[in-house]
Amino acid sequence: MQSWQSHPVPRVPGIPMPVRLFDTATRELRPTTPGHTATMYVCGITPYDATHLGHAATYLAFDLVHRLWLDAGHAVHYVQNVTDVDDPLLERAERDSADWMVLAMRETALFREDMEALRVLPPRDYVGAVEAIPEITEVVAKLLADGVAYRADEGFPDVYYDHSATAWFGSVSNEDEPTMRALFAERGGDPDRPGKRHPLDPVLWRAARPGEPCWDGELGSGRPGWHVECSVIALNRLGMGFDVQGGGSDLIFPHHEFSAAHAEALTGQHPFARHYVHAGMIGLDGEKMSKSRGNLVFVSRLRGDRVDPMAIRLALLDGHYRADRDWTPALLEAGAARLATWRAATALPAGPSAEDTVARLRTHLADDLDTPRALLAVDAWAAEAMAGRGRDPDAPTLIRTAVDALLGIALAE
Ligand code: ZN
Repeated sequence: MQSWQSHPVPRVPGIPMPVRLFDTATRELRPTTPGHTATMYVCGITPYDATHLGHAATYLAFDLVHRLWLDAGHAVHYVQNVTDVDDPLLERAERDSADWMVLAMRETALFREDMEALRVLPPRDYVGAVEAIPEITEVVAKLLADGVAYRADEGFPDVYYDHSATAWFGSVSNEDEPTMRALFAERGGDPDRPGKRHPLDPVLWRAARPGEPCWDGELGSGRPGWHVECSVIALNRLGMGFDVQGGGSDLIFPHHEFSAAHAEALTGQHPFARHYVHAGMIGLDGEKMSKSRGNLVFVSRLRGDRVDPMAIRLALLDGHYRADRDWTPALLEAGAARLATWRAATALPAGPSAEDTVARLRTHLADDLDTPRALLAVDAWAAEAMAGRGRDPDAPTLIRTAVDALLGIALAE
């Protein structure tokens, strides 16, 4: 699938820092340790609605990881999927009497536009579930042949994964079984489906139902499950043990647990990813922003209201990526004011020397993406520059370059 346009990332003088990130699986802050090419998979959208600020916050967090790795001299192989066939998409199309494929194409196009406007660096591989069906089919067939997947008939010959297939199951989320069961039921699982070996077993291949899209092949007519989609797309492009598996914290269980489990059962190797990194949820008026609550704030709507995407970016980076936090009009106003100050300060002919500020920016970002402190470091420099302190003619350009490369904020208008 076509990705979106990249913005060139300038080189920043000075010494880059190795990035440390909190890993959900081991529950510790550890350095990422990429080789020449750093590898990252971030779960993409199900394109049945526009990009809301919760999505944007998640992709911005991983964009910073991407940028820090580039700064440290790594090539970055970044993969993202689009779940362009799944229950929520089909349900929305049905509700709106729309063609599910047209809906998916329209919302994916809008997502690309939003990402480009927010200056999120594009994935090298942007892969739709539909285009990955041949590779998913092959993996599900292998899991069936290996005896870790089975047919749960009872009317439809769906293929399920036996959650007890590996000893590593549970190592991503660290949840106990009652919690897993509750989350599974809450987040799209089907614990009560008759014919399964265990309530937690997730679907790998859903046999065709009347009126639903389906694909023919060795598994019989049907469509893929969500967890195996990400598992296969990541595994076939990045291999086992890639550097970072990312997404929102609502993906920890069951989605990331089972994506890892499928790949580990298939290969007999562990781990699937070396870091599991999760972004917090963005709320509105104290409630998580979600479809079911109808309290979504869309990036495209803000852009339509002529809000500068860089102000949105700064507003979202003002909170730590792992914290659940609220979106407020005041946050956006503060982002816009900060942007205006930074632009004015870096447009001056000179300012205080900026090497220390850039070093602080790198240090804070490398420390589990501590954006609140990173932004304060730039604020401090901008305040000094606006007060007329400092005579370094290279400082404004250095700040502009560092803010562009490391934070993804364009200050030149
Ligand atoms: Zn995923």
